[in-house]
Amino acid sequence: MSRFPRDDYRTLGRYVPDRRPVEVDLTDNTNLWGTHPAALRVIREAGEETLSRYPDPYAGPVKQALSRRFGVPVENVCTGCGSDDILDAAFRAASSGSGRVRYPAPTFTMIPPFTSMNGHLDGAVPWSRALADPEALLDGDPVLIYVCRPNNPTGHLVPRPWLEGLIGAVAKRGDEAPLLLVDEAYAEFSGDSLVLDAPRLRRVLVLRTLSKAFGLAGMRVGWAVGPTEVVDEVEKARGPYKVGRLAQSMAVAAIDDPEGWVRGVVADCLESRSRLLSALEERGLVPFPTAANFVFLPLEEGTASATALALREQGVAVRPFGGTTEIGDGVRVTVGPWPIMERFLNALDRVREAAPNAWAVPDPALRLKAVGIA
Ligand SMILES: *Cc1c(COP(=O)(O)O)cnc(C)c1O
Repeated sequence: MSRFPRDDYRTLGRYVPDRRPVEVDLTDNTNLWGTHPAALRVIREAGEETLSRYPDPYAGPVKQALSRRFGVPVENVCTGCGSDDILDAAFRAASSGSGRVRYPAPTFTMIPPFTSMNGHLDGAVPWSRALADPEALLDGDPVLIYVCRPNNPTGHLVPRPWLEGLIGAVAKRGDEAPLLLVDEAYAEFSGDSLVLDAPRLRRVLVLRTLSKAFGLAGMRVGWAVGPTEVVDEVEKARGPYKVGRLAQSMAVAAIDDPEGWVRGVVADCLESRSRLLSALEERGLVPFPTAANFVFLPLEEGTASATALALREQGVAVRPFGGTTEIGDGVRVTVGPWPIMERFLNALDRVREAAPNAWAVPDPALRLKAVGIA
């Protein structure tokens, strides 16, 4: 056995999303209304010192803007190069390695890689089991628990009482409690967030991002709220200077949101989402109910990648999920402005005419039940 590369990195790969050019890209849940106009003004007016000087090491100005908008104390907020960076830092802060990471599956595809990147052990728990008993996530004394709410890729919002039960069970472990991460990347679209409760909870960190509703995925700014004893440790693990100077200025402008752009985009998205769900149901399909800016559409087993490919040939890219725990095959579709959704529905109709069998899902209700939404 050689010293390099690390043995436990052998199965780890790079993240390789399909980024071939396509007319309509509905694969990554970014903001199809574009970016924040106040952030664009910042780019246009940026001076030389924006590039030549280091930024504030822990993005103090961003924390202050978040505190103004969301009413959370500055000392309870941390930031990162996207919320992925905060997740990664939290995985590092939770344990020096070889600890168990528990999460209801399926969930955010970055969780298994962050687990192995940080030398932890994978501990997926199927959603149906976690829903029946949140304490299943505490089996085997994990160092970290991850819950995505609303969940990616299903879109469902696990009920708040369930989450509160889990938070209580974690707190009961006292000093032996694992760190509980609640990923709220899509909270703007669900209208429910734990951000205001997070400062007084034990061993909890609630993560948010500017990559989705705020339209700033390209600038990589994430933020999180928790008790100071969690936030301080995660920030130490994260290290300084993760959010660049231009990104900080744009984030502040977008968070202050003088023209209420985010509210308008979210309202439009929710309208588009309900029209899309109706349009899919009118076609006899069974999209999962969703609290996010995307919709999961279940498909016949083994047909997800062929379906995504066929849609791509019609100029529309969606994210395929094949043989996924609990939910089998399906495609995840980002919700955008209605004309884009009409474009998607047209492509879908053409693909369905060519391969009608892929759309006859044997028992969609069973899959919905697995994630507790039927
Ligand atoms: C998109 C997404 C994020 C955001 O990641 P960033 O690094 O902030 O761009 C985080 N969690 C989930 C579940 C997501 O889908």
